[in-house]
Amino acid sequence: MADIQSIFKEYGTLYREKYGVTNNQAKVMKAIESCRTSALNAHVHTCNECGHEVISYNSCRNRHCPQCQDFKREQWLNKQEQSLLLTHYFHVVFTLPQELRSITLFNQEKIYNLLFKAACETLLELSSDPKHLGANIGFSAILHTWGQNLMFHPHIHCILPGGGLAMNNTRFIHTKKKFFIHVKVLGSVFGGKFLFYLNRIYANNELNFFGDIDYLQYPRNFQELIDFLYSIPWNVNSKPNLKKPSHVMKYLGNYTHRVAISIIVLLRLKMI
Ligand SMILES: [Zn+2]
Ligand SMILES: [Zn+2]
Repeated sequence: MADIQSIFKEYGTLYREKYGVTNNQAKVMKAIESCRTSALNAHVHTCNECGHEVISYNSCRNRHCPQCQDFKREQWLNKQEQSLLLTHYFHVVFTLPQELRSITLFNQEKIYNLLFKAACETLLELSSDPKHLGANIGFSAILHTWGQNLMFHPHIHCILPGGGLAMNNTRFIHTKKKFFIHVKVLGSVFGGKFLFYLNRIYANNELNFFGDIDYLQYPRNFQELIDFLYSIPWNVNSKPNLKKPSHVMKYLGNYTHRVAISIIVLLRLKMI
């Protein structure tokens, strides 16, 4: 099967001439094209005994490069696997309503911070509530800004053990095997928290409104959007992961170090 590097090497120059790319895109393409080739510097390893030489070319280390991310993922996985608990795990995904995508695009850092804050507080607060689990939990949370069709689609993946430390730290409390907290409860707390914080940064004039959302700089319009967002269900997905804990991290590793363009994505979109 072809790989991204060979496609870029063969057609990259032609593509750039025909369609034009931004400076940043050109930089990424060049990095991927030259990764582990003679275009980058090389190390020569020499055997002290027989003098045999092996040349290894440097990698580009670009975060969009499939070759480099594969290596980084392995390193990350080794580290994560050491902190796994011997229990079942859940995979919870928090997604922003599509009506917030334009605001997010123009205010990425601020909105991603709120997304993490709202999702993490939701998990911690509901888990510590005796009505649900009554325990202190821990988890890993990963931001994704695009969906399977490569469109802008901000959401957070959380991987959490099915249980946590009792509030007095004396024992580990397990959740049921297949049920963490009802997604409707997760969604409504998540939405409420996010909108509360969004209102606050709006009141502090911390948001930018350009292009098709410039009308939102007027408080009445913004309030209309907020009212609407309070009236809709917020999407949270929670699934038990029924495999071994090490499987869970491998699964998450595919998210943490996945690059947007891979051969599998291209094949799915029927681009090659
Ligand atoms: Zn590379
Ligand atoms: Zn995702």
